[in-house]
Amino acid sequence: MGSIDKFNLPSSMRALEYSSATNFSVVNKPLPQVRRHDVLIQVKACGVCGTDVHIHHGEFGAVFPLVPGHETVGVVAAFGEEVEGFTIGDRVVADNSEVCASCHYCRRGQELFCEKFVAHGVMVDGGFAEYAVYPAHRVFQFRSDTLSDADATLLEPASCAAHGLDKIAPKMGSTVLIFGAGPTGLVLAQMLRENGGCRTVIAAPAGKKMEVAKSLNAADEFIELPRDKEASVATLAKLKSDNPYGFDIVVEATGSAAILEQSIDYVTKSGKLVVYGVYNDDDMVKFSPNKIFKEEITILGSFSQTYKFPAAIDYLTRGRVAVSGIVNKTYKLEQWQECLDAMANKTVIKAAIVFD
Ligand SMILES: [Zn+2]
Ligand SMILES: [Zn+2]
Repeated sequence: MGSIDKFNLPSSMRALEYSSATNFSVVNKPLPQVRRHDVLIQVKACGVCGTDVHIHHGEFGAVFPLVPGHETVGVVAAFGEEVEGFTIGDRVVADNSEVCASCHYCRRGQELFCEKFVAHGVMVDGGFAEYAVYPAHRVFQFRSDTLSDADATLLEPASCAAHGLDKIAPKMGSTVLIFGAGPTGLVLAQMLRENGGCRTVIAAPAGKKMEVAKSLNAADEFIELPRDKEASVATLAKLKSDNPYGFDIVVEATGSAAILEQSIDYVTKSGKLVVYGVYNDDDMVKFSPNKIFKEEITILGSFSQTYKFPAAIDYLTRGRVAVSGIVNKTYKLEQWQECLDAMANKTVIKAAIVFD
């Protein structure tokens, strides 16, 4: 403890804790220990994403007992004696990853693939609690009068989108087609438009997500795919015939292997196909190697991020990327089951756990 005593902290906190897969409860537990180089965050909001559903089922490398939550937003409540540059009450967002700095990949500057990667909210306790602790160099201050705590939970997904942008390296004047209107797709669409995309098209099923996509003005054009299979095939055929040369960049952001397989047909010669969804481990796709060879198509993946929080903060706090409405439902810790049900029924676009 030592220097931490000087901060005015309660002796315990409420947290959503899993004892094992699917077994969770709201518990009272001691605050996390603050090491010399840590910042303790009083959590205001923590985003919920598909990963948390996998964790609920014990997948994704979850280590129990566990407090999940990896999109933590809050204010600085305390910090260790080695920490500089933070003030109590600063609004902050946390990067949930800790890397070892010494493995094969870390030594090559590829920390994304760290072999001793520790993910807060997956392997150690995260943000579904009143307090959460992170190393200071993984905590980022931000100021905004317009970005709410719930909306700021999109800073983590936006960091992943910013990393995706680095991978895609779009050329000035690119045409872009994005399949899917989920939270990260909507952020990536706007970043692409801000960075070389001159015509951005989002194709996704008609519904809530598409409405938000439109309200955010996330693209130049919106292609609503009817729920009816036959009608959807016809809409896609029209998209194809309206764009006979295809698109410079095609992003598959739905996580459907079937859509990924079709996506390549919309890529122009010398274009890029971006694999940007979360797929099932046993999914397989079939591409014509001759198409990739003769048309010089690049297929690239992008799944997480390193060092992109500052960029994400600039985009979101300056309104260059709009996110309002993506988080369309907030829950208290005690409503976790309700939140899981809403995720399963797809009645939420993105949820966040909030505290007050
Ligand atoms: Zn996530
Ligand atoms: Zn490493």
